[in-house]
Amino acid sequence: MKIIDILILGSGPAALCLASELAKQNLYIKGISTKAPNEKWENTYGIWASELEELGLESLLSHRWSKTVSFFGNGETEKGNIPTNHKYDYGLINQEAFQNELLNKCNGIEWLNDTAKEISEKNNLSEVVCLSGIRLKARLVIDASGHKSNFVKRPAKNAIAQQAAYGIVGKFSSPPVKEDHFVLMDFRPDHLNHQEQLSSPSFLYAMDLGNETFFVEETSLASYPALSQDDLRKRLFIRLKNKGIKVKEVFHEENCLFPMNLPLPFKKQFVLGFGGAASMVHPASGYMIGSLLRRAPLLAEKLAIFLKEPNLSSLELATRGWRVLWPYELTQRHKLYQYGLNRLMSFDESRLRSFFSNFFKLSTKEWVGFLTNTLPLPKLIYVMTKMFINSPLKVKLGMLNIK
Ligand SMILES: Cc1cc2nc3c(=O)[nH]c(=O)nc-3n(C[C@H](O)[C@H](O)[C@H](O)COP(=O)(O)OP(=O)(O)OC[C@H]3O[C@@H](n4cnc5c(N)ncnc54)[C@H](O)[C@@H]3O)c2cc1C
Repeated sequence: MKIIDILILGSGPAALCLASELAKQNLYIKGISTKAPNEKWENTYGIWASELEELGLESLLSHRWSKTVSFFGNGETEKGNIPTNHKYDYGLINQEAFQNELLNKCNGIEWLNDTAKEISEKNNLSEVVCLSGIRLKARLVIDASGHKSNFVKRPAKNAIAQQAAYGIVGKFSSPPVKEDHFVLMDFRPDHLNHQEQLSSPSFLYAMDLGNETFFVEETSLASYPALSQDDLRKRLFIRLKNKGIKVKEVFHEENCLFPMNLPLPFKKQFVLGFGGAASMVHPASGYMIGSLLRRAPLLAEKLAIFLKEPNLSSLELATRGWRVLWPYELTQRHKLYQYGLNRLMSFDESRLRSFFSNFFKLSTKEWVGFLTNTLPLPKLIYVMTKMFINSPLKVKLGMLNIK
């Protein structure tokens, strides 16, 4: 029986981004996924338009905004309500088109509708046992089963911070967002009580979807323990009520929860990961789709080269794969982002507003590069240093963990 070269677990964005690149490499690939690969993805994926443009994929956007703003004032005075204009296009991905685009490129890859239960390494190969009892052997297993993966090993950590958000797509008694606008972060805190302002600030992420329909989402950037959906829902409704806005119709509810600071996986293990399973979420923003699209081609090319050596075991193949996925440069950048996130999580709402207001004074190239993780390490250090120097004293002290 022909041995499978690569067995992919999952059929979310990570699995399909990588599978669509691996499909170009003349390999024998199979997938196993709890959900069928053509079952509609549930999440709403947003992205800076340039990230898709650079890959020639901008047609995958269902919505695109040029009027992109944030609010970092206190909301109490005229000055405290002035928006920060980002002057940079943001978009929503058309999930169906994105999923189909990737699936069309997964030529010849067959997916089993099943759930991987156990994986072991025997005689240099990996064996996956599924819930149904089916067993499959492959030279390399790539776990793209998301943030909750049980198969990718990483250092233990207790306090994993989560990004949590509760959102509604619907119709409202009056517009919660200005016409044609996208709001990245509305940090005006009038909906938070004193304790919430101190310990667990959240912001509004919102957009005009046209046809008098809006998406509004109360978001906690990262916190441990995570904010509950109930709390976020209450906050969203108080926020709307304070503006005299009532929800008239709900088309879709989004419940978002995922880890922001999962430790990076061990590089020496016989299962390779990709996507949430491989800690690829940007620890300072929670975004990942752009990164999946940018990082999949190189990994696929390298894996095809490694697989040409017939005697390499699963452990050797995966270890080489991990080195490509998390080289020194990206690992160091990840550490810097994680440091930044840890500090931000200790900020109250006023310090956070001050931080972000200052952050968006960086040049567009700098803040976009920071948020998309595309700045080379020396440049990232330069930008973070510049941000620090230009910060107000209270942000500087917070960054240095001086109370
Ligand atoms: C609500 C929400 C909104 C988000 N919004 C954005 C955004 O706007 N922009 C952005 O860049 N990122 C966003 N993210 C972060 C990140 O991009 C997503 O979490 C993304 O879906 C992760 O992709 P993934 O393929 O790694 O995992 P998932 O999308 O979770 O896919 C995992 C796949 O693995 C399958 N699976 C699970 N376990 C097994 C198993 N044992 N065996 C076989 N198959 C298995 C599942 O059925 C699924 O197909 C968001 C996350 C959430 C939760």
